[in-house]
Amino acid sequence: LKEESMRAEKLKALGGVAASIAHEIRNPLTAVQGFLQLIRAGTYDRKTNDYLQIALDELERAESVIKDYLSFTKPKLTKFETFCLAELTHHIITRLTPLSSYKGIEFQCRFNGPMYIYTDREQLQQAIVNVIKNAVEASPENSSVQIDLALQGSQAELKIIDSGKGMTEEEIQRIGTLFYTTKEKGTGLGTSVAVRIIEAMKGNILYESEKGKGTVCIISLPLEGEQLASTN
Ligand code: ADP
Ligand code: MG
Repeated sequence: LKEESMRAEKLKALGGVAASIAHEIRNPLTAVQGFLQLIRAGTYDRKTNDYLQIALDELERAESVIKDYLSFTKPKLTKFETFCLAELTHHIITRLTPLSSYKGIEFQCRFNGPMYIYTDREQLQQAIVNVIKNAVEASPENSSVQIDLALQGSQAELKIIDSGKGMTEEEIQRIGTLFYTTKEKGTGLGTSVAVRIIEAMKGNILYESEKGKGTVCIISLPLEGEQLASTN
């Protein structure tokens, strides 16, 4: 009987998560549907391009919800490799530049030298993308997001600094809680996923912030040799 009620509890929890995910994916899909209908109903003019762009953005949003959800449920890191964190960060910034320049936001990077780590590159990319996206979303138009990468003892330390809306002490405490969001179109998945990934990598992620001033997110990761030493 106890087992049965445990199973029921589990199913209920699963159902809740599935319902939230379905909801998060249904919103962008409904928007895409609406814009495609607008395009079909009208003549092809300048507005059509805007509609298409919104539809594409919404599809990307749906895709990132699914991706975040999958990596949240995925129990562990799978594909280990050695790579340079500076190179990965550079790659991520290039990928996010269309998104940031849309808001007139510039990335200011300060990297010092190559820094090799040994972990699941794709998962780390997702964690960093989620953090930088939040920094861009919190930032006012025509501002900059600073990205510093430096050695800190036996760790690589990546800092993402924005001069955006910032957070109160209570808000900082809630970061990383599944589904916590203050955004109209937010999912509250991004930081939960990032925290889980970085912790699985035996790294550390912490936030410092001041309401109205801005936020610093600090991600530390063990360097290649250290990671090997600690797992052996
Ligand atoms: P989402 O971005 O979908 O809201 P996240 O898990 O990525 O979900 O972030 C959760 C919440 O944390 C955000 O809604 C926001 O309130 C807060 N947050 C995260 N990063 C920042 C930041 N750089 N500046 C201000 N608030 C932030
Ligand atoms: Mg986010």
